[in-house]
Amino acid sequence: MASEANEPGSESGKRSDDRRGAARGTRAGCWSPQEGGASTPLSLAPRSPQPAAILGQPPRPGRRVRALEELDLAAKRVFIRADLNVPLDAAGCITDATRIVATLPTIRYVLEHGGLPIVASHLGRPKGGPAPELSLRPVADYLRRALDVPVELAPNCVGDAVESLIARQRPGQVVVLENLRFHPEEEKNDPVFAERLARLADVYVDDAFGAAHRAHASTAGMARFFRDKAAGFLLRREVDVLQRLLVAPARPFVAVLGGAKVSDKIGVLENLLGRVQAFCIGGAMAYTFLCAQGKPVGRSRVEADKVDLAAATLARAAARGVRIRLPVDHLAADRPQAGATTRVVGADDFPANLLGVDIGPQTIDAFAQEIAAARTALWNGPMGIFEVDVFSRGTMAIAHALAESSGTTVVGGGDSVAALARAGLQGAVTHVSTGGGASLEFLEGRALPGLVALEDAAPAEHAAVPR
Ligand code: ADP
Ligand code: MG
Repeated sequence: MASEANEPGSESGKRSDDRRGAARGTRAGCWSPQEGGASTPLSLAPRSPQPAAILGQPPRPGRRVRALEELDLAAKRVFIRADLNVPLDAAGCITDATRIVATLPTIRYVLEHGGLPIVASHLGRPKGGPAPELSLRPVADYLRRALDVPVELAPNCVGDAVESLIARQRPGQVVVLENLRFHPEEEKNDPVFAERLARLADVYVDDAFGAAHRAHASTAGMARFFRDKAAGFLLRREVDVLQRLLVAPARPFVAVLGGAKVSDKIGVLENLLGRVQAFCIGGAMAYTFLCAQGKPVGRSRVEADKVDLAAATLARAAARGVRIRLPVDHLAADRPQAGATTRVVGADDFPANLLGVDIGPQTIDAFAQEIAAARTALWNGPMGIFEVDVFSRGTMAIAHALAESSGTTVVGGGDSVAALARAGLQGAVTHVSTGGGASLEFLEGRALPGLVALEDAAPAEHAAVPR
């Protein structure tokens, strides 16, 4: 996929999957909330009040994360950290509103319970200062139409002008703060900046699953200034679904992994090794595994420094009795672009002058059978260079196999979600994660700073809180 650096909807970071924004570019023009399309609502209806029994890695002893329903919101200023990092086109129009739609239930709930939502997010990658093209104005405009209430865009995200704007609002209205990343202190998790953000509200709600793997001022630093804090509905649902994959997945559990790099997915693979019955591995990462088995891969993309790691993983899986299915045939091309000459080749006779751009038909059948037999299936990573139509058959077949499954099906990863949307199947799986990097880190078993910050602190930690 072409580099998307500096585009809204993309996220900086070490992972290639951090280039997010599902179904980017699939629609032109400005959207209104009524237009639907890729803004297919996720199933996020608020649930009846109950403690969040499962949320994230188990909180430290004596600590827990509260659900939104446990907070008293009436007449309260409620800071909602959302992930509204939507893709914009050159004219500044939102091309995919999925992320905004996903967080609407949390904003609505706060409105319905008499609170004043103060909605905050980052957008794109401003270079350490205000950038008009990365203003949250399009997001505020979208929210105004979607919620049908007055929505004010603040001129900044901290400071006197913002504080007095908030003081003039009444419950039933919404304030959208300007892009958090117009201040470099946000990503540095600067404590003074975190305190300035915290000063704006009485209650802290985090709904930004897509940013939960970042220890930034708005996702982690500011939470300690609040006695009343909770997970929003989107964050809770994401974590509930992913947690269930790690804790109690219905068996057989199959993980279909693909995409660009072994190094992006190896942590997930390792952490799932004791939990799945089978892995299906496609995409470029399959070639590193095939290399480890001594198979020919032609000019396919291989991470030479990860071949030993792949061999060790194969050995560990074999020792545990976990099936690792690698491609038995491929679509091979003379170049990785549209217009290439292609042919299907067997795994044992890969021509030296070609490169693998998709899994072949026998592999599609084998992976589809694994998915059909599974009661839980996780998919992360395309099976080929799906951006090119003629190389997308394997990826589309996986999307359809998941859609046809009667089991629990979960899709994560920006490109995989984009492929699912292209197949029009977003509504046909159990859960589509809105956070590429965050879902991978969660499935790796790592504690997400955004979740840890929500854990209720011991009372002493609130002693310095000015309210
Ligand atoms: P996700 O965002 O779903 O986690 P990744 O970012 O890991 O997925 O991988 C997606 C990228 O992998 C796509 O840009 C796709 O073109 C690339 N890719 C998949 N298969 C191959 C292949 N055989 N050769 C080169 N690139 C590939
Ligand atoms: Mg990606």
